[in-house]
Amino acid sequence: MKRYDIAIIGTGPAGISAAITSKIRNKDIILIGNKELSNKITKAHKIENYLGLPAISGKDLANNFINHLNEIGIEIYDKYVGTVYSMNDYFVLQCGEEMIEATTVIVASGVIQNNTIKGEEEYLGKGVSYCATCDARLYKGKDVAVLGYSLDSVHEADFLAEIVNKVFYFPLNNTVPHESDKIIIVKEKPIEIIGESSISKLRTETEEYDISCVFILRDAILPDKLIPGIETDGAHIKIDVNMNTNIKGLFACGDIAGKPYQYIKAAGQGNIAALSAISYLNTKK
Ligand code: FAD
Repeated sequence: MKRYDIAIIGTGPAGISAAITSKIRNKDIILIGNKELSNKITKAHKIENYLGLPAISGKDLANNFINHLNEIGIEIYDKYVGTVYSMNDYFVLQCGEEMIEATTVIVASGVIQNNTIKGEEEYLGKGVSYCATCDARLYKGKDVAVLGYSLDSVHEADFLAEIVNKVFYFPLNNTVPHESDKIIIVKEKPIEIIGESSISKLRTETEEYDISCVFILRDAILPDKLIPGIETDGAHIKIDVNMNTNIKGLFACGDIAGKPYQYIKAAGQGNIAALSAISYLNTKK
């Protein structure tokens, strides 16, 4: 299997900056994330504090980033990373059914700002899933719920509807899939996941839904769920000044690595993470 020098997770300013620096330094990289970039860029109305680009809109900044990637010859691999496994001197990234190998990993996956739901941690892997592509087949012919926080959730719900019996879709970011006899849109607030050895119900303020799985689709996964063994501080990955984490060869940058949540800080940390990854690769020669 091909092994990349550096796999970069996330197409916000941190991941893009890390990818550009790594590519300029001739590393064999893969940039994994949404081709439309982070919605934290595209949703910003007017940005006043990005160096050299005064009063730019988020959409224009995103276009500038895409042009920069194109100019340098970096393609975005439009996938979602479910888990990163450390294999001691390299890493395996699970993207749905596909596995990607890399000697180093830069995590630039942004921070989760939605609170977790009661029962989420307890039933993770016992009916709670963060990845429809990875787990849909396990629930073939069953009823499932989708908590749609991310923009992609709508497409994921459509995909799930091809496999499962029924999807109860909770639109938590205002985008709604086409209603069908397989997708039922529920405009209620999910409160709790209930079950015994595995989940059986999702409770809202007013109802209980009998389901076998809850797909919780956010723009980012909690870091310790994405990377088993990573040291965290709340929602953030612990880093040192060179963006090293507690796992050798794995670096973190941007919002996932702590406050302040700012484009320029994310881009700066992306640059440092790339240089640290390159130094690490040099030690392995
Ligand atoms: P993000 O931009 O969050 O990007 C992370 C990317 O990783 C996303 O595309 C996500 O989909 C992807 N991802 C996550 N998990 C995975 C996975 N497992 N596999 C693949 N991809 C994954 N900051 C300023 O400095 N100035 C401003 O004016 C400003 N305005 C803002 C306006 C709004 C509406 C918002 C929401 C934020 C604003 N911010 C502003 C903050 C700024 O958006 C963030 O600090 C910045 O985007 C962080 O960049 P990042 O690269 O760390 O993460």
